[in-house]
Amino acid sequence: MGVSNIDGHIIISAFYLNNGDLIDIYLDIIHELVHVKQFMDGKELFDRHYNYVDRPTEIEAFSHAVKEARNLGLTDERILDYLRTEWMTDEDLKRLAKSLNVNSETLSS
Ligand SMILES: [Zn+2]
Repeated sequence: MGVSNIDGHIIISAFYLNNGDLIDIYLDIIHELVHVKQFMDGKELFDRHYNYVDRPTEIEAFSHAVKEARNLGLTDERILDYLRTEWMTDEDLKRLAKSLNVNSETLSS
């Protein structure tokens, strides 16, 4: 799932929408809606000066998703699982979790 930096539309894979975990999809939509707002505010969404997990626009988007995840009663372990992507190193995941105050102690190091 992502936001077009051309027109601010949310782009979602049909496969993910049909087969993904419903909570993950819901949290992703919250995350992406933050990017839509950022786009409308004229912010640079893909600032390559930053690593993905350090980019202020990503931290802001993830923080809203994590807040909603906590409202849903998800555990830190489940939130960590949500934050994990296949291309993210454990170090990056830990750094992202730390920025979001999510406990990453369950990660094997
Ligand atoms: Zn994002």
